[in-house]
Amino acid sequence: MLVVGNGPVITRDDERPFLPDGAVAIEAGRIVAVGPTEEIRRRYGRADFLDAEGGLIHPGLINGHMHFYSTFARGFGGKGGSAATFTELLERLWWRLDKALTPEDCYCSALYAVVEAVKCGCTTLIDHHASPRAVRGSLFEVARAVVDGGLAACLCYEVSDRDGPEAAAEGIAENKAFIDHVAASGEPRLAATFGLHASMTLSDATLERCAAAGEGAGFHVHVAEGPEDERLCRERHGRSIVERFGRFGLLGPRSLAVHCVHVDDAEKELLAETGTAVVHNPESNMGNAVGFAPALDLMRRGVLVGLGTDGYVSDMFRSLALASALQRHGLADPDAGWAEVPKMLFRNNARLADRYFTCPRGRLVPGFAGDVIVIGYRPPTELSEKNVDGHLLFGPGAVNVVATVASGEVLMKDRCLTRLDEARIAARCRELARAVHERF
Ligand SMILES: [Zn+2]
Repeated sequence: MLVVGNGPVITRDDERPFLPDGAVAIEAGRIVAVGPTEEIRRRYGRADFLDAEGGLIHPGLINGHMHFYSTFARGFGGKGGSAATFTELLERLWWRLDKALTPEDCYCSALYAVVEAVKCGCTTLIDHHASPRAVRGSLFEVARAVVDGGLAACLCYEVSDRDGPEAAAEGIAENKAFIDHVAASGEPRLAATFGLHASMTLSDATLERCAAAGEGAGFHVHVAEGPEDERLCRERHGRSIVERFGRFGLLGPRSLAVHCVHVDDAEKELLAETGTAVVHNPESNMGNAVGFAPALDLMRRGVLVGLGTDGYVSDMFRSLALASALQRHGLADPDAGWAEVPKMLFRNNARLADRYFTCPRGRLVPGFAGDVIVIGYRPPTELSEKNVDGHLLFGPGAVNVVATVASGEVLMKDRCLTRLDEARIAARCRELARAVHERF
């Protein structure tokens, strides 16, 4: 049993959002009590005590869209010259990198991403995986890394026709096998959806097979990320992407439409009507120069919009700051999104996770996953329940996450990892990455 206490507690729960000096008690992986430090320590006197020393006590962060395998792209520019368009970037870097991955690469790239997530205070991730030359068993390798690292993740394999019918069939089978495994295992740290790459690399015949194989699991798919995806869909299929996916039964409350940069008003309405969630990835959208995502407009229409990193980084505080600046800049409105952008990360990502995991997470409430971080932050102005998001937007950042607890286990304390050997994992990754880049 563990108690994390002696600091302001931000619960992200509407009933009691803020305790000026509080503590969280965790037993068997779940939160059992939240209250004033003195009271909780008295009640759970025998528990181990993690002293926040006045730092902020906050739920573990959730990343709404990640690609663990992107670890091996770091510092590697690809081959074949610079890309003029987003599609060229996919062809010259990502679709060559993922083809070079072996099962061990899938495990180690995910394990390294888990190390970085722990150091950034991120305890739950929704991942989208691709390794077209090592499809079978790949999600099980990624899952092993997540569980070995002590975190929680919702996984899927991105089915695509870009590597031929055999790879597409293997992708469908891998999603199905992993969905069945998660349902049978009862492991609360794992969840599954059915993954699809994007409309532009999926034929009608493949979509039909995916719809049948993934029924009930929800679909995790890139939607209208670059302008080409939307244009090609209208040219080839005579309708928009969201409408196309809707016709195949791929929308709904368990489905994630990632990016939605180029969706039109009718598509936005269809996303809202079907309860399909959207994940906004500001750094990726800016970095790939694909356009400005109408994230606030989608929220106003009632779409659940979460926040992700799209594999760029593991730092959700960085995504928060970029999303906030991007929306204000893109809308030319210095007032835009002050409340909505923090809501994407601190509220909506928890609601997203609730759609997939059996154990609720992202709030400091009894019964929820014992995922807690301590942010070593001494505010220079008064901090209250009303302005905490303003502090987190401009204040500490991920580098000041001093402790990370997931499912009640202390994974980082005083910024030292307790479970994973970062140097050893990084060294093995460098060996593997060298070989990946040679095969590239
Ligand atoms: Zn992505």
